[in-house]
Amino acid sequence: MTDRYAVMGNPIGHSRSPAIHARFAAQTGQAIDYAAILAPVAGFAAAVAAFREQGGRGLNVTVPFKQEACALADELTPRARRAGAVNTLRFAPGEPVFGDTTDGVGLLHDLQRNLGLTLAGRRILLLGAGGAARGVIEPLLEAAPAELVIANRTAARAEQLARLFADLGPLRATALDALDGAAAFDILINATSASLAGTTLALPAHLVAADSVAYDMVYAARPTPFMRWAGEHGAARVADGLGMLVEQAAESFFLWRGVRPRTAPVIADLRAQLAASYA
Ligand code: NDP
Repeated sequence: MTDRYAVMGNPIGHSRSPAIHARFAAQTGQAIDYAAILAPVAGFAAAVAAFREQGGRGLNVTVPFKQEACALADELTPRARRAGAVNTLRFAPGEPVFGDTTDGVGLLHDLQRNLGLTLAGRRILLLGAGGAARGVIEPLLEAAPAELVIANRTAARAEQLARLFADLGPLRATALDALDGAAAFDILINATSASLAGTTLALPAHLVAADSVAYDMVYAARPTPFMRWAGEHGAARVADGLGMLVEQAAESFFLWRGVRPRTAPVIADLRAQLAASYA
């Protein structure tokens, strides 16, 4: 029987994960079936149980269930335990339910391998303190930046994250509207959902220098408001989060199947699809 996998969230209609995993499966010759499942907001655990009863072998978990997924795992990786979030569950026969978060490693692979950036010794600004930011702080600090500053509209949430990860490296929290006195950053990462709503963050222009790189975790056919803002203020390079999406999926695929798919052709394929959908 073909092994079954799925992405579970609410909403889920927009998810590109089925398309990504279908490409990974074709490329690696793995016989898997990967679906998108809409779980009721108050019915995630029951939906997971039903999926397992039907022979499900693994799940990707997305908004708003990443924290609940953490509670369903019997065995968590240290990074998932600290982040308090799981985006990958594995149900292998005879094994405890395994949970991990691959968002952070996905971002790192995109920044370092795909974009060729060096993070060591760099000043990094992370905008946002929601689930996406939480999942990337540990891997970013492991890359040994000179400083990581978390800036959030609600300062208390950034401060909470800074306390949680304080022992891992040079980390500081600030309110988004208190960045006036900050020096320019080498790498600016937007982990807020502002771009999804088409909103431009009110950021001081001097945060961007001529060699800065600006990265928006949101991906789109056209540059996001954050990418446009950074480009207009002279950033050397801007990128969206499509590469992160494919890279985190590749890590999940590896956790399930023990095989590493090549990501570059899949990113190129999805990029072309996005462009065609806009044309
Ligand atoms: P959350 O809802 O958990 O957090 C949203 C964050 O955005 C909060 O920090 C919130 O601030 C901030 N925010 C929202 N609107 C505004 C605004 N108008 N001005 C300033 N700040 C704002 O979302 P997630 O962390 O789960 O996701 C964030 C983004 O990352 C999403 O757009 C998602 O699509 C993307 N993402 C991309 C991935 C990829 O693979 N490319 C993977 C995961 C996420 P406050 O705390 O003040 O409310």
